[in-house]
Amino acid sequence: MGQLDNRVAIVTGGASGIGAACAETLAREGARVVATDIDDAGGRDLVARIRAAGGEALFLHQDVTDEARWPEIIAETEAKYGRLDIMVANAGIGVSARTIVDMTMADWRRQTAINIDGVFLSVKHCIPAMRRAGNGGSIVMISSVAGLRGSPTLAGYSATKGAVRLFAKSIAMECAGAGDGIRVNSVHPGIIDTPIWGKIPVNAQATGRNAPPDPHELARTGAPLGRAGTPYDIANGVLFLASDASSYMTGAELVIDGGITAGTVARR
Ligand code: NAD
Repeated sequence: MGQLDNRVAIVTGGASGIGAACAETLAREGARVVATDIDDAGGRDLVARIRAAGGEALFLHQDVTDEARWPEIIAETEAKYGRLDIMVANAGIGVSARTIVDMTMADWRRQTAINIDGVFLSVKHCIPAMRRAGNGGSIVMISSVAGLRGSPTLAGYSATKGAVRLFAKSIAMECAGAGDGIRVNSVHPGIIDTPIWGKIPVNAQATGRNAPPDPHELARTGAPLGRAGTPYDIANGVLFLASDASSYMTGAELVIDGGITAGTVARR
């Protein structure tokens, strides 16, 4: 018996990093998983890994900012697996700039489109399907520790992740008011070892760096536990929020950050 037997989940940005770990973890616990992403090769590899481990998953190509694609994603999920119970709104990008004055409007818009509009569309389109399934539901939004405190050089990213945090609480209240049994929570990862770090554009003039930031180096000094987290450290928290183990949690924020937001550590 898995914790998520008979449940159906959508994981956006499921081809890589935290999303892939979430898809694998939910599938291991019995959920049938629809992973969506713009990265088709990564999505195909993910489905092969899940099936090889005895799970059930489907990959669908999706840009989360494309509103017209959302009804198709929901319809294909219901056609294949009959229902929708869990939404992990995970797709996201980070764009850094040495100062906000160096941030271009195009980068600002791209980041807000994926990190905020994409989460809005995930939620808007999953709620009617969860209500049709009639067994409550769990929406998990992947925010960041950058949504809890300011981040130099990542001000735009912080703004998007702070928006996601309060969006989650607002939708939690809306669903609680509707009495539909849908719970909504946000997850706040710290420094996690995923490909996202290598994708942060390097513009030496704008960022003052010649290479993308190294999560291991950042975590050695920046995280009280002294190491970067793994994508599975986050997926385990997402599993908890997706499952009945968290049935009394809504509007909450689950911080999984190796202690980053707790304070500073005195190393001996
Ligand atoms: P990642 O780059 O490994 O994975 C992100 C995935 O999102 C990729 O597969 C990418 O193709 C996909 N994606 C990007 N734009 C998309 C779009 N428009 N439509 C659909 N898919 C799209 O990064 P990750 O570290 O696994 O990040 C996952 C989430 O976790 C993001 O929201 C990120 O902001 C958040 N997060 C990551 C960290 C970290 O340290 N890695 C820390 C805090 C929060």
